[in-house]
Amino acid sequence: MARPVQFNLHHIPADPRDNISMVDIKIGETPEGHAGNGFFATSLDKVVGLARKNSIWPLPFATSCCGIEFMATMASHYDLARFGAERLGFSPRQCDLLMVMGTIAKKMGPILKQVYLQMAEPRWVLAVGACASSGGIFDTYSVLQGIDQVIPVDVYVPGCPPRPEAILDGFIKIQELVGQESLRRRNSDRYKRLLESYGIQ
Ligand code: SF4
Repeated sequence: MARPVQFNLHHIPADPRDNISMVDIKIGETPEGHAGNGFFATSLDKVVGLARKNSIWPLPFATSCCGIEFMATMASHYDLARFGAERLGFSPRQCDLLMVMGTIAKKMGPILKQVYLQMAEPRWVLAVGACASSGGIFDTYSVLQGIDQVIPVDVYVPGCPPRPEAILDGFIKIQELVGQESLRRRNSDRYKRLLESYGIQ
């Protein structure tokens, strides 16, 4: 009779050909659940949340200087790929995180909203920097005083410009939201009311 195999991700033996031990590799945290020999049971919400939060596809909407900080965030030193988000998309239909970086002129507002509407649910929005969050130093007739005047925002990153560490911090906050979100939230009356307040059906 075959003996049961104990499944324990934290005790994978080291590969002698590598300089690092396999136990040094950080594996995605296990959600709450019940573990035993050869099995792990948890709720569907938590499994979907774990998969989604570690495979976010960002859509960069970069209009000015904060976009340069985002380029640094994507580059090798900060390396957003470490968070499972190296696959940037420039088609809204294939993305689930809209990252708005830079000054948004009022004329640009409807275009930003159109991009948001073209994204499929579930979708999240990160406002990066003072301009996207509040208009920043451009308190003028032509600049939108925060993108939350046209679309709902999940996380705001302060700074002019925010350093790549701050952008990563905002991204991690988004990951926390994504990981904890109920699968039913998008169908809730509260969420529908939020969208309706932006004229979105
Ligand atoms: S917040 Fe500052 S750095 Fe970012 S787009 Fe505005 S002016 Fe440029």
